[in-house]
Amino acid sequence: MDNALIDRFGRRIEYVRLSVTDKCDLRCVYCLPKGFKAFEEPEHWLSFDEIERVLRVFGELGVGRVRLTGGEPLLRKNLAALAARLKRLPGITDLSLSTNATQLPRQAALLKRAGVARINVSLDSLQPKRFHELTGGQLYQVLAGLSAAQQAGFDPIKINMVAMRGVNDGEIEDMVQFCIEQNFTLRLIETMPMGATGRAAADHYLDLQQVKARIEKRYELMPSVMPGGGPARYVRVAGTNLRIGFITPISQHFCETCNRVRLSVDGTLYLCLGQEDKLELRPLLRAGVDDGELKQAVVDAIARKPERHEFREKPAQVLRFMAMTGG
Ligand code: SAM
Repeated sequence: MDNALIDRFGRRIEYVRLSVTDKCDLRCVYCLPKGFKAFEEPEHWLSFDEIERVLRVFGELGVGRVRLTGGEPLLRKNLAALAARLKRLPGITDLSLSTNATQLPRQAALLKRAGVARINVSLDSLQPKRFHELTGGQLYQVLAGLSAAQQAGFDPIKINMVAMRGVNDGEIEDMVQFCIEQNFTLRLIETMPMGATGRAAADHYLDLQQVKARIEKRYELMPSVMPGGGPARYVRVAGTNLRIGFITPISQHFCETCNRVRLSVDGTLYLCLGQEDKLELRPLLRAGVDDGELKQAVVDAIARKPERHEFREKPAQVLRFMAMTGG
C-alpha cells in the first residue's frame, strides 16, 4: 500500500487503540490511585465527530484495526453509536473493545449490533473478596457482564489477567479451568511500571516464563496462534479449546513487532506506551487544519515513533497511569 504508515524501523502501523474516556468505575491497584480525581476536562474530550475524522484519516493511511478502550470505555455516553460510525469508515475492518465488563449487561447487545466483533475483559481474580481488594468493585457484576457478552455472541471473548506474585498467582490454574469451562481465551499480562501505581505493583512482578513452565506441569501445551494483531504469544491446552496468551512486556519485550499507536481522550497520539513521544491532535483539529495537513502531521509523528519502551531500564520514566493513555 502506497500510503501505509511505516516507521523508521520498518514497522507498519495498522492498529489504533482509542481511549474514549480516562474515567473508570474501578480502581485496579496497578492502574488508577484510590481517590484519583484529576480526569480530563469534558471540553478537552475529542467529540465523536473529531474521533471519526481522525480515524478516517488513519483508515486512509492503512490502519485497519481499532480498539475502543479507556479508562472504562463503556462509561462514555452512546459508545455504541460511536462504534457504528467507526465501523462504517473505509478501511476499518476490525473493531474491538477492552472493558472491565461491569456495564456489559446493558450494553453488550447494542455494541455487538454496532459492529464490535471481539472483546477483552479484565479479570484478575475469581475470588469476590480479592477481586474487591484489587479493584474496589464487585465480582458478580463482571461475571454478569461476561454472560451478557456470551449471550450477545461475542467471539472470541478474551480474559486479561494481570499476574502478580503474592497477590493472584495462586489463582492462575483456577483461571485456566474457568476459561476452559466458559470457552474464553486467557491472556496473562506482566505488570508494567506505568505511573506511581504501576510502579508500586511492579514489586509483585511475576515473570510469565516461569508461569508458563508451571502451567506446563499440569497441562500439555501446544504452540498456537490467534488473530488479533496483538503481542501475545499463544499456546493451546491439549484436549481443550483453550488458548493461553502470554503478554511479556518486561521479560521478553515485543517492540520490534509493534504495530500500534494510542489516541487518548484529549486527542493526544502517544507513539509508544512506555515513552512520552506524542502528537497533540486536538489543537490541530480545533485550529481548523484540513485533512491533508492532518494526514501529514500523523505521517510525521509516525516517523518519530520510538524504537522501544524502557520499562526495565528506566522504570520511573512513565508518569501517566495506564487509564490516561488508553491501555
Ligand atoms: N477498563 C478497560 C479494561 O478493564 O480492560 C480498558 C482499559 S484498562 C487500562 C486496559 C488494560 O490495562 C487492563 O487489562 C488492565 O489490567 C491493564 N493495565 C492497567 N495498568 C496496568 C499496569 N500497570 N500493568 C499492566 N497492565 C495494566
